[in-house]
Amino acid sequence: MKRKATLAIQDLCACDGCEVAMADMGHVLLDLLDDKVDLVYAPLFMSARDYGEVDILMLTGVARTEEDIADLRQVRQRARYIVAFGSCATFGGIPGLANLHEQATLLETAYQNAPSLRTGEKTIPDELLSALTGEILPINAYVDVDFSLPGCPPPPRLLADFLERVLKQVTLKEK
Ligand code: SF4
Repeated sequence: MKRKATLAIQDLCACDGCEVAMADMGHVLLDLLDDKVDLVYAPLFMSARDYGEVDILMLTGVARTEEDIADLRQVRQRARYIVAFGSCATFGGIPGLANLHEQATLLETAYQNAPSLRTGEKTIPDELLSALTGEILPINAYVDVDFSLPGCPPPPRLLADFLERVLKQVTLKEK
C-alpha cells in the first residue's frame, strides 16, 4: 500500500501569510491530509516542535540571519524535496526591499525610530541578534530547491493544484 507523503512547513523570516493561504484551501487541504499527506510539522497548524526526515519541506520567507542560513543547510539534508513556498522564498519578496537600505538604517528604524509602546531609551540589541545576512537572497542561493511556487501569498486554488502536482512527482520518483 502506498504510504502518505510526509510534509513539513517551516518559516524563516516570514509573515505566515503563505501558511494562512494553505489554511484557506479548506476542505481540499483536509482531503489531502486524509488521503495523501501526513503533516508532521507546521507551527501555524500544530504544536510539533521539530521533525525528522520528510518527503516534502515547504519553506516560506527568507534567510535574514546567519542562523537562518545554517538552519536551511541543515534541513536540506533531512528533506527529499524542498519547495520554495511564496514569493519571499522564491525571489526575496517583500523582505528583499531591505536590500535598498544600509543595515544600520534598518536597525535604527526597527529598534529606535519606529513607534513603540516602550518608554525610556531605545537601544539596538546587537548582542541578542544573530549576525544579519549582508543581503536578502532567494533560498536557492543557499540550498538546492526542487520546486518553487511564487505568489504573496500563492492563491489557495493555485496552491492546491501545485500540491497535487508535487505529490504526483514525488510518487513517481519513489517507484
Ligand atoms: S510570500 Fe508574502 S505571504 Fe508569503 S511569507 Fe512572504 S510576505 Fe508573507
